[in-house]
Amino acid sequence: MRPHWSVLGREEQHRTIDRGETEPFDIAIPLPAKDRADPENTSQGVDLFWEWFRCTGCGRCCYTPGAGLYLDREDMERICRHLGWSIKRLKSLCRRDKVLKAWALKQPCPFYDPEGKGCTIYPARPLTCTRYPLHPPLKEMPYNLAVDAFCPAAREFVKDTLGWWIVCETNWARILRDMEKEENERNRDLGGR
Ligand code: SF4
Ligand code: SF4
Repeated sequence: MRPHWSVLGREEQHRTIDRGETEPFDIAIPLPAKDRADPENTSQGVDLFWEWFRCTGCGRCCYTPGAGLYLDREDMERICRHLGWSIKRLKSLCRRDKVLKAWALKQPCPFYDPEGKGCTIYPARPLTCTRYPLHPPLKEMPYNLAVDAFCPAAREFVKDTLGWWIVCETNWARILRDMEKEENERNRDLGGR
């Protein structure tokens, strides 16, 4: 079990975060993946993350050799529709994971264009890509966002904001509810004018 961020000094926090450059791990940040007080409402922490996260478009998540990107049935159908391809043709760019009984795009991703530095199937890209660098929450920390430490922009994001998350950790449900209430009131006031 990794020590909690709050018991590490700033330099040690940054060293730990930077290990993501070479060592695969997810950083659990105390931003709500799920609001304990309101289990129906799961989007607040995620929305906040996307509001502040800035992808640099470095493309590392697309062209780095690795385990490959898993595709579900809907991903496959959407990509094939977008490209006018058969499933068989798409599968020729995938490998079959016998353990997980799933198809994974070979890596580097065949749809990454290193010249144009971009995804050539962007509107139809797999769901996992639309969510990256967020990963599903870690089992041991189901209420915190899990961010892939491999993404350089995610590492910088965590370094810049970690102190704030730690301070807010025990209070985030209340803080976010208050923020939402204030925003609703502001919108109501503006609407009343
Ligand atoms: S690794 Fe991170 S910063 Fe680079 S393209 Fe992917 S999401 Fe963006
Ligand atoms: S499908 Fe697009 S966004 Fe996803 S890994 Fe490939 S190039 Fe990157």
